[in-house]
Amino acid sequence: MNKLRKCSCCGKMTGDGGVLCTSLGALSFYYCKKCAETGQEPYNVLVSYFANTKWDDILPYWQNIIKESCRLHCKTVEQFEQDCIDFMENCKHWSENPW
Ligand SMILES: [Zn+2]
Repeated sequence: MNKLRKCSCCGKMTGDGGVLCTSLGALSFYYCKKCAETGQEPYNVLVSYFANTKWDDILPYWQNIIKESCRLHCKTVEQFEQDCIDFMENCKHWSENPW
């Protein structure tokens, strides 16, 4: 039996997945089999990747991935958009206060 690991997308403990590269960049996470097969991505990765993109400018494929991630995390799309705004505010703060 494979070691149980926490899926980076849905948070479930499974042994059926693997460490895979995200389709959003050169980062790797543990994906359970279901999340890997359905193209899910970790919520915070989606926030950081789409933080500077308006919802209507996100391709429908990614909107569906985001909606599913929101569902898995009991969030609305509006909360996702607010998390993106908060992320950008934090980036601005970090860039103005690097030390
Ligand atoms: Zn999963």
